[in-house]
Amino acid sequence: MIREDELRDNLQKVRERIQTACVAAGRPEDAVTLVAITKTFPVSDVHALAALGVREVGENREQELRVKAPECPEVVWHFVGQLQSNKARSVVRHAQVVHSVDRSSLVSALSRAAVDEGRVLRCLLQVSLASFGSAEAATGRSRGGVAPADVPALAAEVAAADGLELGGLMAVAPLGSDPDQAFAGLESVASRLRSEHAGADWISAGMSGDLEAAIRHGATHVRLGRALLGTRPPLG
Ligand SMILES: *Cc1c(COP(=O)(O)O)cnc(C)c1O
Repeated sequence: MIREDELRDNLQKVRERIQTACVAAGRPEDAVTLVAITKTFPVSDVHALAALGVREVGENREQELRVKAPECPEVVWHFVGQLQSNKARSVVRHAQVVHSVDRSSLVSALSRAAVDEGRVLRCLLQVSLASFGSAEAATGRSRGGVAPADVPALAAEVAAADGLELGGLMAVAPLGSDPDQAFAGLESVASRLRSEHAGADWISAGMSGDLEAAIRHGATHVRLGRALLGTRPPLG
């Protein structure tokens, strides 16, 4: 099958999954935005997805973002991976949203870069869901993020930082966890955040394997790689 047809089929299937999950959750169909995670896939796939109507695209490595984003200015670029402070400037140049803000030093670096570049960067705080009944603490495999108890302080820093806009929260369900339990925990952290920062109403949660659970628990943005683009080469 030619690649465009494959992507069109996959996109239709994930749109149906999102729609079905929204109906089941009693949420409007347009309550959830699809962010296509194109890591390891070529720029030609980003163009093809854009031609099919995908407007939001994400990468998890600065090296890939920096190459692909300038070639595809027709979409909004998101950065979803772990971010070293020395890469903050490049990410600010190429992405409009960062989902993985998890520490003060990164807030300062992003703020400085955004001011220098004359841009406003939408920031989501990545929350660790390890405390919500997961097996991760036991296995010792962490997927990063700020502890729920530390969200208010970090949120206040982002909200006060020049060049940054507090957008909400992001999380990845811990390995071996029950995604419903994990995302229910995230939902409670998000509702507390909104009580102090009304505009911080995005919940970026749900990947190819668990988007239904995320949508049941209020996800506004699902980040889909494999379901849309196929199996990735094992790049890590
Ligand atoms: C790769 C990645 C995704 C997409 O995962 P799939 O399982 O391929 O849908 C989502 N979020 C982050 C942070 C990722 O790195």
